[in-house]
Amino acid sequence: METKTRNTCLIWHIFREDDILIYDDDQIHLPEEKNPEILGIEPIRFRETAYPEGEVIKWAEVTAETEPPEGMKFAPRRKVLEVLGEENFASSGKAYHFMDWTRKNLFCGRCGSPMKDSEVERSRICTHCDHVEYPTISPAVIVAVEKEGKLLLGRSPRFPKGRYSVLAGFVEPGESLEDTVKREIREEVSIEVDDIEYFGSQPWPFPHSLMLGFTAKWKSGAIRIDEKEIEDAGWFSPEEFPEIPTTLSIAGKLIGHFLKNRKN
Ligand SMILES: [Zn+2]
Repeated sequence: METKTRNTCLIWHIFREDDILIYDDDQIHLPEEKNPEILGIEPIRFRETAYPEGEVIKWAEVTAETEPPEGMKFAPRRKVLEVLGEENFASSGKAYHFMDWTRKNLFCGRCGSPMKDSEVERSRICTHCDHVEYPTISPAVIVAVEKEGKLLLGRSPRFPKGRYSVLAGFVEPGESLEDTVKREIREEVSIEVDDIEYFGSQPWPFPHSLMLGFTAKWKSGAIRIDEKEIEDAGWFSPEEFPEIPTTLSIAGKLIGHFLKNRKN
């Protein structure tokens, strides 16, 4: 399947619930220079946001009953993003994040009055009590744990069939990132880790995470999985790797980093 990389500033990200509007052909691409009006779609709301660096993010939200224009379809966002390429993935994720945050902050959580976009910063302000809501961002850690040349990989029931990945979990109030790394690994597979090192980060708009990648080393304990969270986990040497995520995700990048170090 061919993926088109285009000028992301021209692209309209049009969402119907959690699906995104794409052309209905064998090439997955997004509407460019075609705003909802030209496409004959009436959005519930839309925004065109220009950033100082020159980036422009355009999104629209349509009702659940909206039919796609001829030659187009609404497709599951995660599936589309997997083949969109890194740049489109980032702009589409940003568009979804703002769309989703806006629709969840139409009314004030304190007094129930309507909210509106701030004119001076990226926030929503209550028209009655001045309560301010900033975009929700949920930090989560994702960790590549190594033991004697093997990598810890687990399988969530939510993954596509056969897929394994490094373990991840949300940061809880009051935790440092290092606390979260230790707690998540302990909770999910009952092992202790140390030598925790920061690797890198990636916005992950499903729906509003920020993934913070770490590497760590096994310290003690044998794998015993929490069956509520994962259905299988184990230590894998590069030769016996199962199916893993693409390098579009930080999970894939962490695994790639492990493999590269093993070869050197
Ligand atoms: Zn209010």
